[in-house]
Amino acid sequence: MNKEDKAFIRKFEAKVAKTIKKYKLANKKDKVIVACSGGKDSTVTLYLMHKLGYKVEGLNIDLYIGKWSDKSLKCIKEMCKKLKVKLHIASMRDIFGCSICYIRSGIQAKIKIHNCAICGVIKRWLLNKEARRLKGNVIATGHNLDDQVETLVMNMIKGSPKLSLGQAPKTGIIKDKKFVQRIKPLYFCTNDEVRKYSKLMGFSVVSEPCPCSLNATRRKIRNQITKLEKEYKDLKLNMIKSFLAELPKMVKGAKKEKLTYCKICSEPARKDICKTCELIGILKK
Ligand code: SF4
Ligand SMILES: [Zn+2]
Repeated sequence: MNKEDKAFIRKFEAKVAKTIKKYKLANKKDKVIVACSGGKDSTVTLYLMHKLGYKVEGLNIDLYIGKWSDKSLKCIKEMCKKLKVKLHIASMRDIFGCSICYIRSGIQAKIKIHNCAICGVIKRWLLNKEARRLKGNVIATGHNLDDQVETLVMNMIKGSPKLSLGQAPKTGIIKDKKFVQRIKPLYFCTNDEVRKYSKLMGFSVVSEPCPCSLNATRRKIRNQITKLEKEYKDLKLNMIKSFLAELPKMVKGAKKEKLTYCKICSEPARKDICKTCELIGILKK
């Protein structure tokens, strides 16, 4: 490895350590559950949280998306074994009796809804439930700067900027004993930086995108932002910095949302029935 690469690695690791410290994402007594998908972002998160001395365990949600899921799982197992980190696997087949693809097509036969809108809701529900069962204090996800900017833009396009209120490095605005705090240690690292770090470190990761996300709106927005950044340097970082500067005021001014527990699964919900049970209900109809 040359001098420049070594300097990049040091700088990247220092940036992640600074984010964790500045935003008080975790402390050394916390049990950190890292949501591992097998991609570069979550693998880097797992590696760095472990390297920085946090107590980490990996959690993979096995969605059963054909070969892509098999490959992802193989990469995660390899990394956890290398780091001697415990890996937990929550299998869709064990929990729901079928793959995410089966659930998705069943729901889509009845209502118009995007792949990721179904998968994302169910994954978040499962992650929270499993992390709580594992007595995790925080769930670390691999969201990077590009993901964050895309989310902000997507929420604006959808006409729901309020959805961005929970998009800080420490996510969410509603605290509840049944919610495990989610954190994003790579919040200020660009997609390119994470990719470069993962490559330089020789991590074995799944580089192909999820086959179900090919038409996702997120992908289209990502392409547009990449084009814009060629013209406006540091566009993503500037957007995120201005968002974070305004966030406390926005949260203070927002109407307090009330949280309840789902009448079917008892998980935290905004309505009587949580989104996951609502989707499963549509599938069973
Ligand atoms: S890209 Fe979409 S469908 Fe694929 S794993 Fe992520 S949320 Fe699920
Ligand atoms: Zn429910």
